[in-house]
Amino acid sequence: MKTNYHTHTIWCDGKDDPETVILSALDKGFDEIGFSSHATYPDDSACTVPAAKLADYFADIRAQAAKYADRIRVLCGVEADFIPGSTDPDRSRYAAFAPDYIIGSIHYVIAPDGARVPVDHSPPLLRDGIDAHFRGDVEGYIRAYFAQEREMVTRFDFDVVGHPDLVRKFNVKHPYFDEGASWYREELVRTADAIAASGKLVEVNTGAISRGWLEDIYPAAPFRDLLRERGVKFILSSDSHAADTLDCAFDRFGDAEAYIQRPFA
Ligand SMILES: [Zn+2]
Ligand SMILES: [Zn+2]
Repeated sequence: MKTNYHTHTIWCDGKDDPETVILSALDKGFDEIGFSSHATYPDDSACTVPAAKLADYFADIRAQAAKYADRIRVLCGVEADFIPGSTDPDRSRYAAFAPDYIIGSIHYVIAPDGARVPVDHSPPLLRDGIDAHFRGDVEGYIRAYFAQEREMVTRFDFDVVGHPDLVRKFNVKHPYFDEGASWYREELVRTADAIAASGKLVEVNTGAISRGWLEDIYPAAPFRDLLRERGVKFILSSDSHAADTLDCAFDRFGDAEAYIQRPFA
């Protein structure tokens, strides 16, 4: 079974339109494909489908799904942000659009002064954010990221935890913390506990590979071990932003976990 449910298009910050992505999925032998545009409904923010266009996005994907129904199953969801005080990935928030599934992700950490620090936009923006809003305290910033993630999985009703250790994205090319530190392990344990208690799926995400930041997946092996030991189930995702990266590194990580097949049947 070849599937991917974490897929971006020109509706948000992806490169290709949905039909081009579906044709690529057919060419690559996918059995199912799901779209997951960035959303911060009802607000707009960088890289998301504008809130006023969200209904059009769903209508477009549903039309494509009907067009290709005899060749591939096409689902439509969102990758919804949790930005405390602004938006969250709860099912009730997106209910009017009837998404097939919701991926909950954190791309901004709310600092003690209320500022939004972008986790994965660029190394300089991250460095500036930690310096300006966490007084240069990297550990404090990363602990805040995981605390926000625990709040997200505990408070809200959604399906899949997106790239749960996104803070690692720049840590190979621009190292800024020690992934072997005991405080980091403590955050992983607490977060694995919270995810397990929530019953949510976790994605194994190859997106940092296609974009050249890492040779490895989210979550890293020590975090995956903690999640697996607690009975958490995984799906495989490419977090693809272009038609040709739909199955990026699936050959390397296709058996990294016993993935759940057709989780949204
Ligand atoms: Zn994301
Ligand atoms: Zn994504």
